[in-house]
Amino acid sequence: MTMDVVKGRRDVHRLVAAWKAQGLRVGFVPTMGALHEGHLALIDTARAACDRVVASIFVNPLQFGPNEDFTRYPRPVERDTALLAARGCDALFLPDVAEMYPTDADTVVSQRLATEHLCGAWRPGHFTGVLTVVLKLLMQVAPHDIFLGRKDFQQVVVLTRMVRDLDLDLDIRVHACPTVRESDGLAMSSRNAYLGPAERAAAPTLKRALDAVSAAFAAGVRTTAELESAGVSIVERAGVFKIQYLSVVDAATCVPRAVTGTAPEATDVVAVAAMLGATRLIDNVDLSAR
Ligand code: AMP
Repeated sequence: MTMDVVKGRRDVHRLVAAWKAQGLRVGFVPTMGALHEGHLALIDTARAACDRVVASIFVNPLQFGPNEDFTRYPRPVERDTALLAARGCDALFLPDVAEMYPTDADTVVSQRLATEHLCGAWRPGHFTGVLTVVLKLLMQVAPHDIFLGRKDFQQVVVLTRMVRDLDLDLDIRVHACPTVRESDGLAMSSRNAYLGPAERAAAPTLKRALDAVSAAFAAGVRTTAELESAGVSIVERAGVFKIQYLSVVDAATCVPRAVTGTAPEATDVVAVAAMLGATRLIDNVDLSAR
């Protein structure tokens, strides 16, 4: 079957409504494109759970800060379209900025607790951009299921919270899917394309640092400071990263244990963000992963 490519919000809405009228279950995978195996695994998962799958590609200006990489973010649209079609995606929603944000658009979605720390603290306004675009995409596509990657753990928490808080859960189910990694452990990311050879060689250090934290937890370490320093020391030893945070956090809220002063729990997540040269990398693992 050929993949439909639609650019208008009314067109995608009509397409999905027709599928739903036939009793078909519709899954949705939002992306910013520059697709890799992490994105395509979401398509596979959506296909297994649903009758029809819609992907979107939209590099959302609202979620980039003024000094971030919005203009240089890769946009290989033809390649992405071919990858999605080959993977059995049924429709690609490809809105442009004017379709998504008419010049008189004046409404945004914000959230408090779960956006306060981690990437929310380092990227002011980022999650307001993510929340706003994903709410709009959910209204436009109106799927039964949305598939998100745990690689962006705080994003999963924030969007799951929005779906519940705004009662979208009456119609839509959120699925959080595992992080897909390169063979050396580096979490796949469209931004990995920015890395030079020496940076690419150093990048898997972040995953090793996260693993060291969960290994320390498995070995019985129970203080936040000691757990975090097991990871920080590994990142620092590489000598090429600027750490923004390496934090053990409550998985329900993304609030760091160091902020609440409460003891780490087995359900916690350890998350890291660091600059490697000009490239910002993030990753996370379950504290009980080891
Ligand atoms: P992005 O295009 O980076 O906005 O990502 C689109 C979706 O793909 C989000 O739900 C991401 O969490 C997910 N994603 C990105 N990288 C990975 C990965 N390595 N493994 C699993 N999901 C991912």
